[in-house]
Amino acid sequence: MNPQSISEAPALELRDLRTEFRIGGAWYAAARDVSLKVMRNETLAVVGESGSGKSVTALSVLRLLPEAATRHGGGQILLDGEDLTTLSEKQMTRLRGDAIAMIFQEPMTSLNPTMTVGDQIAEAIRQHRRVSRKEARRLALEVLEEVKIPGAEKRFDHYPHQFSGGMRQRVMIAMALACKPRVLLADEPTTALDVTIQAQILSLLSDLKTAHGMAVIFITHNLGVVAQIADRVAVMYAGEVVETADVQTLFARPTHPYTEALLRAMPRVDADTEKLQPIPGSVPAINAVPKGCAFASRCPLKEPRCEAERPNLTCVGKEHHVRCVVRAEQYEGRA
Ligand code: ADP
Ligand code: MG
Repeated sequence: MNPQSISEAPALELRDLRTEFRIGGAWYAAARDVSLKVMRNETLAVVGESGSGKSVTALSVLRLLPEAATRHGGGQILLDGEDLTTLSEKQMTRLRGDAIAMIFQEPMTSLNPTMTVGDQIAEAIRQHRRVSRKEARRLALEVLEEVKIPGAEKRFDHYPHQFSGGMRQRVMIAMALACKPRVLLADEPTTALDVTIQAQILSLLSDLKTAHGMAVIFITHNLGVVAQIADRVAVMYAGEVVETADVQTLFARPTHPYTEALLRAMPRVDADTEKLQPIPGSVPAINAVPKGCAFASRCPLKEPRCEAERPNLTCVGKEHHVRCVVRAEQYEGRA
């Protein structure tokens, strides 16, 4: 392979990923035919209402879903071309927090309240790297400084509860970055923060992405956040990707009726807030997904055929795909 083709291969690619949960006696898919890719030095935002399958998709990548009631229903998860679905649990343990790291909305779910933050990060490093305690401490301090925690040296010996929400989120990012992951999965990491702190964390994540050449998958239900952080976007609905595009295209030419509805429901600084239109209805439960298009019952463009057959993802422009027969046909009519 020449260097160019290496850099152009996705760092992480999902191909037709299907993840199922057991409810009662039957299996139902919470992620269906999910195909995504993210390149090095790129942020892919995954957006959709609560219950769309965003977290299930991310947790499937790291195999972190409750084992007893979850199964891999098909598809591939390729990390630099290596299919993670074929790895043993031991191999996955080695990979988590090393090649792929994840940050969550609530830092306290990943931080140990009884250990100083410095020790936690140093320990995370020693789990994956053969380094002395002293060297691990040095690397931990380096990463605390990198996430711009003021007075990092002093803060090293503080406990998680001694940090504000925003600073704690920085500690968690430091922990995720400790082993310099190739891929970072961020699941609504700024949702609990106020707008100013949120903007600071988003800008920090962008800087870190560039500094490390990381591939970032950023999950959010908030299109405002998407506009701030994403290079490309995947819109999810009822466990499926319904639209993918680069961020400019998505905002300039949203094409799936669900994406349009999300945009109309989004508060904007430049628009009259009275025109905000919440989307009526809700995302179907995984055991109640209809046969045809999952969005049909909420869709202003619905036609009889939409309820009869599940639509495919169709190309409607350069790197722009939409899972809607009506819109795909309109595009073909124009093209
Ligand atoms: P999002 O992150 O987009 O808000 P999730 O990925 O958490 O949505 O959930 C997608 C769907 O899968 C939801 O309908 C949710 O209720 C269901 N789900 C998530 N986890 C489980 C589980 N462990 N068992 C059964 N259903 C689940
Ligand atoms: Mg979620």
